Amino acid sequence: MLLIDCPFCGPRNESEFSFGGPALTPRPSDPAAVSDADWVDWLTVPPNPMGLVEERWWHARGCGSWLTICRHTVTHEITEVRLGR
Ligand SMILES: [Zn+2]
Repeated sequence: MLLIDCPFCGPRNESEFSFGGPALTPRPSDPAAVSDADWVDWLTVPPNPMGLVEERWWHARGCGSWLTICRHTVTHEITEVRLGR
């Protein structure tokens, strides 16, 4: 269970939040040059490295803010929480 430190509400259980996906998945710069398979990967395969990832979370059962958190995928330690992107 994650404990997310919302800048407005303080530390809250992850059950108050909705996961919004990875935060920084850059869109291909030249869409015409990307194959269909690469588009499918970009749209449907989230990055899942062993290490730090940035994710979007919506405090749906709290203040309604969108947050970006930096979380370690092995330890689930949250090293940063910020508003917006
Ligand atoms: Zn909040």
